[in-house]
Amino acid sequence: MKQPLIYIVEDEPAQVAVLSYNLEKVGYQIVVADDGERALQLVEEIEPDLIILDWMLPQVSGIEICRRLRARPETRRVPIIMLTARGEEGDRVRGLETGADDYVVKPYSPAEMVARVGALLRRSRPGLADETLEYGGISMDLAQRKVTRAGQPIHLGPTEYRLLLTLMERPRRVLSRAQILDLVWGRDVDIEDRSVDVHIRRLRKALDLPDTLDPIRTVRGAGYALDMEN
Ligand code: CA
Repeated sequence: MKQPLIYIVEDEPAQVAVLSYNLEKVGYQIVVADDGERALQLVEEIEPDLIILDWMLPQVSGIEICRRLRARPETRRVPIIMLTARGEEGDRVRGLETGADDYVVKPYSPAEMVARVGALLRRSRPGLADETLEYGGISMDLAQRKVTRAGQPIHLGPTEYRLLLTLMERPRRVLSRAQILDLVWGRDVDIEDRSVDVHIRRLRKALDLPDTLDPIRTVRGAGYALDMEN
């Protein structure tokens, strides 16, 4: 089972230390960014399962980071917990309007934060499970785990299903083999890059019906994209 990856975006080392310690202790993988620009860069590289975002950051504020993440299709759905200092409650509403999923006021207890993170992760997964994703005539019913193309049922193994889900959540975005490995198999898994090619081939074969086009574009030297517009 893949460990949830959490980004902590906070510039105060003491806060970071307490948060990391408590979240790692319950089994989360933690990556820290001490400013917003760095956070946006990291998100580009590997998409986290949740972001803890401090309001007060040097240069770009937490609220602006939140806005930018919500504006991008590929990070629109990443769960975000905003951190703020007491007395900024007036900003609370603004924070939620901007798209943060939850709010924690400093000072908070580590136990409270761990509980909030757990709750938001659970909430974000079933939320996703209610959806149907559509692209290029392919339809994924996430609650029933059913895939169809042009109305025809498509039968996929579990890995091909996760691979298709990864692509369907990021239409037209080029993903490297390393990114696909992270997203489909999780980090710390000893699988070679060329396994990605094997599973892409199987997925293509499963999706290949009469009168349909290959929905997966191979980008030489870069990776793969779900992309039929070329
Ligand atoms: Ca701060």
